[in-house]
Amino acid sequence: MVLRFDNRVVVVTGAGAGLGREYALLFGKRGAKVVVNDLGGNFHGEGNSSRAADLVVEEIRKLGGTAVADYNSVVEGHKIIETAISNYGRIDVLVNNAGILRDKSIANISDNDWNLIHDVHLKGSFMTTRAAWPYFKKQKFGRIIMTTSNSGIYGNFGQANYSAAKLGLIGLANTVAIEGAKYNVHCNTICPTAASRMTKGILPDDLFDEMKPELIAPVVVYLCHEDTMDNGQVIESAVGFATKVHFVRGKGSLIRDSIKDVPTPETVKAKWGKITDMKNAKHFNSNMEVSSSFVSVMDRLKNPL
Ligand code: NAD
Repeated sequence: MVLRFDNRVVVVTGAGAGLGREYALLFGKRGAKVVVNDLGGNFHGEGNSSRAADLVVEEIRKLGGTAVADYNSVVEGHKIIETAISNYGRIDVLVNNAGILRDKSIANISDNDWNLIHDVHLKGSFMTTRAAWPYFKKQKFGRIIMTTSNSGIYGNFGQANYSAAKLGLIGLANTVAIEGAKYNVHCNTICPTAASRMTKGILPDDLFDEMKPELIAPVVVYLCHEDTMDNGQVIESAVGFATKVHFVRGKGSLIRDSIKDVPTPETVKAKWGKITDMKNAKHFNSNMEVSSSFVSVMDRLKNPL
């Protein structure tokens, strides 16, 4: 069955270039009314222009689709959602994609480099989500995408500000997913790698040519469909490959012998091999599941073998 978005209103932030442009084009082709948001600055977050968003709107319309441009910064997310409401009367899907880079090693990151990266990526995604929330909740439908990065998941030299903000987006998505579940408001996270002005000169040339952003758009569009029930997932995608990513926790070890003992640095040292052994690592679905595991730890301490 073809996955359509007729009568759905989709906001894509940072849709004037790169990945966001491909998402907007595919949503447009699938029948959605698309709000093409883009501030139109450079990739360091300087300047602004209406041209980037206008060109994508033109492309969508030429393909027979429906779209409107929005030139606000995601930091003023409520204005972007207002563009959807004033033009189309509703919002169904929000793709938080806008992004910039201010790569520097830790000692050289200025307050402004730190704040701007957090404002655009983390606060911007929160501002749009909060503004869309009452509409999603009332209509008992909403699909939200956050955008993380392998630089956040694994770290990357020269990207402390970006890594922190990008991993923060997974934390934001986790709680948005929990709070939205009962209203059929789902939030999933995409972790892309693609050729764009952001990765030019970073990805090796031969890889760059193959890492087309349009190969990732179908994953994002699928996640946003009304029939897709996944919630709180992190999906990595690149070069026509996609996979789920999640945290796992090791089996761990007691670091005291009984409920009366207090661990010492030496007992931690003695158990370090077991503490860091990931052989039987397991994924936990909630904070509650982790807290419940402490009950069995307490039982083992109270009733040592
Ligand atoms: P890009 O630079 O091609 O596109 C980003 C767009 O966001 C630009 O058009 C820019 O004008 C817009 N933008 C920037 N600040 C904005 C703001 N304050 N308000 C509204 N629009 C704004 O980059 P891209 O590679 O397509 O990246 C898209 C997203 O994917 C970003 O969040 C990025 O961090 C993330 N990402 C990309 C890669 C990759 O390999 N390209 C990897 C991991 C994560």
